[in-house]
Amino acid sequence: MQVSSKLSLVTFLLTQSSFVFADTEGVLRIATEHEVWIGYNIHPVWFVLFMAVMMWTVAIGVGLFYHRVLTHRVFKPNRFLAYFFVTIAAPAGTPIQWVGNHRSHHQVADTDDDPHSPTDKGFWVAHAGWYLGTENILLCVLYSFAGPLRMVFDAFWRPRTNQEYVHKAKDIAADPYYAWISKPGPYACVVLGHVFSVWIFVYCLWGAWALVFLYAVQLSFFLIGDTVNSIMHMWGDSPFESGDKSRNVPFMHILTSGESFHNTHHAIPSAVNLGLLPGQFDLNYFWSRMFEKMGLATELRRPSKMLVLSKLKDDQYREYIEKNYRENL
Ligand SMILES: [Zn+2]
Ligand SMILES: [Zn+2]
Repeated sequence: MQVSSKLSLVTFLLTQSSFVFADTEGVLRIATEHEVWIGYNIHPVWFVLFMAVMMWTVAIGVGLFYHRVLTHRVFKPNRFLAYFFVTIAAPAGTPIQWVGNHRSHHQVADTDDDPHSPTDKGFWVAHAGWYLGTENILLCVLYSFAGPLRMVFDAFWRPRTNQEYVHKAKDIAADPYYAWISKPGPYACVVLGHVFSVWIFVYCLWGAWALVFLYAVQLSFFLIGDTVNSIMHMWGDSPFESGDKSRNVPFMHILTSGESFHNTHHAIPSAVNLGLLPGQFDLNYFWSRMFEKMGLATELRRPSKMLVLSKLKDDQYREYIEKNYRENL
């Protein structure tokens, strides 16, 4: 082969990308530049739907299963339902380390021993630096905005770091599946599987333009999720007595699937239902009730009215709770 023809082949592959396209007759060929951009030209409404379903399942995986179910035991789940959502939530960390860190956070919230308190080390360390073990603000910002690239890094980093409190998650470590997925090898496979399967799927169906939106959505997962450790211990209101600086940030309740009722949660950590005050909708509690109706969740732990009232420190809501709160549904 002539040097010039070799170069033109390389140029062709670089400009046309290596996206293999199957046409209507099922014949495989290299995609054209236009096809690279639009993929199989599936209607964008399906892309929006796919993004919405992905956001919900991630929110259920991290907020409901990692947090409320595995850490705080707010209900007894069907084992395979829990395994499914824990697998979805894996990019948030291994289940053993996540549960250990979070239980430790509750025990010493906003003290020097808290793994991630903005009071102790500032916003950026609580938001992202504690994952890396750094107080360097530039590294914290870069990590926060790395989006899916962060998952590629975390696939190797997370099972090897932040392991100080795994002894507080012995119940999780006793489960063979959670123990397996928390090991470095399987964890890396699952997390990298997440990244590449979603990116390849979106690229093939909708093309390169959709990857820009996918990046933005995945970036928002991390930015919003990490606010629970930073913003929700800094700004907002604290109608309940929790003994720490946790805050409710009601305007974020849809984005966080109800996790932004963080002061309510710190006051009554075992509660499955966190939307206790007027106008508060707790999406993760809604899903808990759906799973209960489907027979996939039992023993939902709704706090007694007496407990809710005993924790309430903002008296303007006392009458509302007394009239409207139902212990049993
Ligand atoms: Zn907290
Ligand atoms: Zn918690």
